[in-house]
Amino acid sequence: MGMTSDRCDNQGMPKVKPSKVQSSEVQPSEVQPSEIQPLDYDIVIVGGGMVGSMLAAALATQCGARLRVAILESAQPSPLTAEDPYDLRVSALSIASENMLKAVGAWPGIVARRFAPFRFMQVWDGEQGGNTMFDSTELGYPHLGCIVENRVIQLALHERLSEFDSVDILCPEKLLAADVLPKRVEVRLESGKHLSTGCLIGADGARSRVRELAAIGVESSQYPQKALVATVQTSLPQQDITWQRFLPTGPQALLPLAGHRASMVWYHSEEEVDRLQSLPETEFLRLMEAEFPEQMGSLDALLGRGSFPLFKSHATHYVKERIALIGDAAHTVHPLAGQGVNLGLLDAAVLAEVVSDVVLQKSSNTRSESIGEIIGRRHHLRRYERWRRTDNALMIQVLDGFYEVFKPRPRPLRVVRSMALDFVNRLSPARGALMQYAMGVSGDLPRLAISSSRTPGDEYGVKEFV
Ligand SMILES: Cc1cc2nc3c(=O)[nH]c(=O)nc-3n(C[C@H](O)[C@H](O)[C@H](O)COP(=O)(O)OP(=O)(O)OC[C@H]3O[C@@H](n4cnc5c(N)ncnc54)[C@H](O)[C@@H]3O)c2cc1C
Repeated sequence: MGMTSDRCDNQGMPKVKPSKVQSSEVQPSEVQPSEIQPLDYDIVIVGGGMVGSMLAAALATQCGARLRVAILESAQPSPLTAEDPYDLRVSALSIASENMLKAVGAWPGIVARRFAPFRFMQVWDGEQGGNTMFDSTELGYPHLGCIVENRVIQLALHERLSEFDSVDILCPEKLLAADVLPKRVEVRLESGKHLSTGCLIGADGARSRVRELAAIGVESSQYPQKALVATVQTSLPQQDITWQRFLPTGPQALLPLAGHRASMVWYHSEEEVDRLQSLPETEFLRLMEAEFPEQMGSLDALLGRGSFPLFKSHATHYVKERIALIGDAAHTVHPLAGQGVNLGLLDAAVLAEVVSDVVLQKSSNTRSESIGEIIGRRHHLRRYERWRRTDNALMIQVLDGFYEVFKPRPRPLRVVRSMALDFVNRLSPARGALMQYAMGVSGDLPRLAISSSRTPGDEYGVKEFV
C-alpha cells in the first residue's frame, strides 16, 4: 500500500513503524497513487478515537492478514509520557473494557504511562444521607475499574495498531464525502486522496459525518446541566475509591488519578458552571474543599479545568447497506455513571466478532467476491445492530432514570430516594447485580470482553484506602 509516509510521533514510547502511519503531508511535486486509482480496503474506519482504534485492533487480532483495514483520524494525538501534565478528559474503564484492551494487546501501553485502579465506589445522597458502598472483593475482582486519561487509551491503541501489517493508520486525514455504490463505498478525503471499500464504519464521534452522509437519523436532547471537570493536586496520596454524591443541584464525582491527583466532576446549571470556571484558582480550590467529601483531604493546586455540555442521543439505525456506526456516532449517554466509552468499546468488540465470524466462514467459501463486499451487506451487519442497539437503549434509559431520580424533588420523594440507597446497601444480591452491570461483566458479552485475570487481591499494588 506504498504511499509517502510520515509518522504519528510517540515520544518516550516505541517508535511507530514509518511505513504504517500515513500522513496527508506530501511534497507539492509528488503525485499520490491514490489520486489516480483509489486504494482498496475491506473495511475503512472513520475516526481513530478510543472506539474506532479498538475496532481496528480487534479486527487485526481476530482476522489478521485476511482483512485489510484503514483507519482515518483527523486529529493526531500528541505524545504523552508518565511525566507529562494530566489531561482533563479521563474515563472510568469497566472490567469488560480492561479485558478488551488486554485481549488486543493495548494494555501494556496504558500501564507504561499511567492509570488508577479503584476497588471501592461510594454513592450517597448528599441531602438525606442515604448511601451505599461497592467493594470489588465481594465479587472476587481485584478492582471495580480503572481511571485512565482518554489520550492514554488512544495512544496505547495507536501504538498497538502500528504493529499490525493488515492495518493502515491514515493520520491526520479527514473524511469529506462517501458514495455508496451497490458493491463498494467510494471515499474522498480532505487531502484529495480516494479510497474504495466494501464496508465503511463511522466511529467519528457525536457529530458523525458518516452518519450524516448515510442519512441515518438521530434522536437527541440536551440536559439542562453542564459538567465542570477539574484536575487537582491532592495532599493525600492516590486513593482506590470513587465518590458520587447527589445534591439537589446535581451530582458530584471524585475520581482518583495516579499519585497525588484526582479528577473532580460537578454537574450543575450552565450559569453556575460558567461562574465556577471563572473563579480565581485559590477561591475555586477552597470552594471545592468545602463542597466535596472531606475524605478527599485538602487540595494543593488546580492543574486544569474545563466544562462540557451534556446531551443524550441515539441513532435510529446502527447499520445500512455497507455502513455501520459505533461509539458516540451511534449513541451518547449522560456521563454521570461513566459508561459512554465502555459502551462504545463493547460496540467495537461485538462488530469485530460479527465480522470475524463472516471472515472465517468465507475462508471455506469458493465465491469470488472480496471479503469486504460480503461483510458490508446489511444482513451481516444487522447481527451487530440487533446485539448492541437494545443494550445501549437500556443503558440510555437507566442513566436517564438516574438523572430523573436525583434531580431536585419535593421532600417526601427525597426521603424515599435516600431509603432506597440504604436498602441497596443492605441487600447484597441487589448490590452485586448493580456492581456486575457497572463493571460490564454481566449480559451478552463479546469474546474479547470475557476472561482475563479475576484473582482476588490487588494486582497493581495500590495503597490501601486512607
Ligand atoms: C464530561 C464527560 C465525562 C465523561 N466521562 C466518561 C467516563 O468516565 N467513562 C466513559 O466510559 N465515558 C465517559 N464519557 C464519554 C466518553 O468520553 C465518550 O463516550 C467517548 O469519548 C466516545 O469515544 P468515540 O471514540 O466513540 O468518539 P470520540 O472520542 O468523539 O472520537 C471520534 C474521533 O473521530 C475523529 N473524527 C471525527 N470526524 C472525523 C472525520 N470526518 N474524519 C476523520 N476523523 C474524524 C475525531 O478526531 C476523534 O478522534 C464522558 C463524556 C463527558 C462529556
